[in-house]
Amino acid sequence: MFPSNQTFTRALQQKGINRRRFIKFCTAMTATLALPPRYVAQVAAALEKARKPVLVWLQFQDCAGNSESILRSSHPSVLEVVLDLFSWEYHELVMAGAGHQAEAALERVVREEKGKFLAVVEGAVPLADDGVYCTVGGRTALDIARHVCPNAAATIAAGACAWDGGLVRAHPNPTGAVGISEAVPEANVINLGGCPQNPANTAAVLVHYLTFGQLPAMDQYHRPLFAYGRIIHDQCERRAHYDAGRFVQEWGDEGHRKGWCLYKMGCKGPEATFNCPSVRWNDGTSWPVKAGHGCLACASHRFWDVRSPFYERLPQVPGFGADVTAGEIGMGVTAAVAGATIVHGIASAIRDRMRTQPEAVPPQASNQPPKA
Ligand code: SF4
Repeated sequence: MFPSNQTFTRALQQKGINRRRFIKFCTAMTATLALPPRYVAQVAAALEKARKPVLVWLQFQDCAGNSESILRSSHPSVLEVVLDLFSWEYHELVMAGAGHQAEAALERVVREEKGKFLAVVEGAVPLADDGVYCTVGGRTALDIARHVCPNAAATIAAGACAWDGGLVRAHPNPTGAVGISEAVPEANVINLGGCPQNPANTAAVLVHYLTFGQLPAMDQYHRPLFAYGRIIHDQCERRAHYDAGRFVQEWGDEGHRKGWCLYKMGCKGPEATFNCPSVRWNDGTSWPVKAGHGCLACASHRFWDVRSPFYERLPQVPGFGADVTAGEIGMGVTAAVAGATIVHGIASAIRDRMRTQPEAVPPQASNQPPKA
C-alpha cells in the first residue's frame, strides 16, 4: 500500500501503469458514470492531482462475495488502478496484519483521519441479542459500525447484505440482521445493491468522489442513479424476442438454445433496474441473462424475500404476451420513482447528465409485483 500523502500519478508510475492504460481506465469510468465523453479529461485531471484518501473495508455478516468480486477482476481498471486510488488501511480479507495489530490500524484511521476517510461495508449487521451473532476482535459488528461509519466522510454499502440485510435478513431473519443505514442512521451512506455488487460500479463511485469531491446523485434508496436508473428489460439483448412473443418454455429447449426471452422462466428484468446489461461481469464479457439465466432482480430492495420464488414468472397481468405488458410495468416503475429521487448536491456536470438520462428506479413499486 502507498502512503496517503502520495499523489495518484506517482503511485501509478511506481506500479508501472502507463498513461495509455490510465486514460483507458478514465474512459471506462466516465462511461460507467454515464457522463459524456468530454468528461474523460476532467476525470483524468482530477485523479492525477488527487491525494490518496484513506479507505477501510469492513466485513460483517457476509460471504466475502463483494471483496472477491472486486479483487478477482483481472481488468487493470479495477484491480490495479482503483486499489491505487486509495490508501487501503484495513481490509480483513487481504491485509497482512492480524489480531490486535490490525485492529489498532483501524483505530488509528478513525482517530487520525476523522471525517476524511472512506469506509466500505460488506455484509449485514445483526441486532438481535445485543449483536452477538457477528463479532470481530471481540467487538460486535454493531459496535464497530457505530464507531467507524459516523466518523467517515462517506460509507459505501457494497452488496445486498450491507444495503438492506440481503440474504442474512431473509425470512425468518434469526439474527435480526439489517443493512448499515438502518444500523447506523447517522452515517452518510451510499448503497450499492447487487449480489454481489459489480466492481465497476464500486470503482465508479470512488472515482466520482475523487473527481467531484462528493458522492454521485442518488435515488430514494441512496443508490447511485448512474447504476440504478434504467430498467433491465429496456437494455436486454433478448428484448426483441420478448416483443415478438418468442419465449423459452423450459430449460434447454430450442428457444433456450436460440437465446429467446426468459420471461416465462422467471426473469424479473421487466421490474428491475440496474446497469448489469451494459457494465456486465468478467471484464464486460457477459451477464446472467446473456448467459441463459433469468434476472433475479438482485439489485432490488429485499430481493431474497420479495423476488422469490426466482423461477416463477412475474404475476400474470391482463394482456400478457404483448409488449405493452412489460412496457406498462416499466413505465409504472419509472413514474413511481420520479418524484422520490434524492439528489445530493451534485456537480453541474452531473446535472447535465441527469437531464439526458432516463428517470430512476422502482422504489416501492419494484418490490410489489403488479396485481393480476
Ligand atoms: S423478460 Fe428478461 S430475458 Fe426477456 S427481454 Fe426482459 S429482461 Fe430480457
